[in-house]
Amino acid sequence: MDKLEKLLSCHSQLLGYQKIPDELLFSQQIVKLIIPTDEIASRASVRTNCWVCSEEITNHREVHQNHQVLCRSCAGYSYYEATQDLSVILDRF
Ligand SMILES: [Zn+2]
Repeated sequence: MDKLEKLLSCHSQLLGYQKIPDELLFSQQIVKLIIPTDEIASRASVRTNCWVCSEEITNHREVHQNHQVLCRSCAGYSYYEATQDLSVILDRF
């Protein structure tokens, strides 16, 4: 794929995403951070994908485990936990 084809492909994807309803693009879950945000944000512009869940991993947060590249959640080092406690949202405002 040459540079123009890649650019057109990216542009087509962007246009496609604009037409897909949010509820099909995103899922949501209430979570509670279990490590500080300073530790979550690290180096920008480094990207890869998790071998297990295909989630894009940014900022050099991937974990190398058994010759696989994993997101922190699949590696067992999630920075959040699922919760039904709505106070975690209200505490932010
Ligand atoms: Zn994963």
